[in-house]
Amino acid sequence: MLLGYGHDDRSCSYSSLRAQLALSEPPARTALTILVDKEEIGSVGATGMQSRFFENVVAELLALTGHGDGTLALRRCLMGSNMLSSDVSAGFDPSFASAFEPKNSAYLGRGLTFNKYTGARGKAGSNDADAEYMARIRACMDAHDVAWQTAELGKVDQGGGGTIAYILAGYGIHVIDCGVPVLSMHAPWEVISKADLYEAYRGYQAFLTM
Ligand SMILES: [Zn+2]
Repeated sequence: MLLGYGHDDRSCSYSSLRAQLALSEPPARTALTILVDKEEIGSVGATGMQSRFFENVVAELLALTGHGDGTLALRRCLMGSNMLSSDVSAGFDPSFASAFEPKNSAYLGRGLTFNKYTGARGKAGSNDADAEYMARIRACMDAHDVAWQTAELGKVDQGGGGTIAYILAGYGIHVIDCGVPVLSMHAPWEVISKADLYEAYRGYQAFLTM
């Protein structure tokens, strides 16, 4: 296990970036890693996901590659995109077991965790990925022999939380939350499993070539 400050969300941003840099040859589809700030306070500001910067970058890329500078090409490009929203999940904590649903929790050491939905009071504020996309992701992870698990973000009415996924889903992008399970999330010191961190790196690499 690794004890450290800010595993949320360094463990996911670092593994995402390393996966992107490890691509040995250009993938069939354009692959991007977006690193954004201020998720914990609502993704506001010029460096938060609510900002137009990502949309603007894609528009610039389309123009530079001769796909025009109209908004229709941009909307089609975004709508045809797939995404992983890399953020930590709550790992089952035996010393605080009452806050978890044991059959729908992430466990440290069992791999990259997919949260089909996040949210508070059930799924409020969630993205809730569609089943077909979930199936494609599962097939991709299995094909690359990645250790993965599924979980909710803490017990209904006790746990919960949000990510940036719903913001990108608004463009029609297929997106699902996934990341490294963590103990004592948002505490000054958090705990993760080294094996999960490595599987996240492998899983992100598999996704970028999907
Ligand atoms: Zn957080």
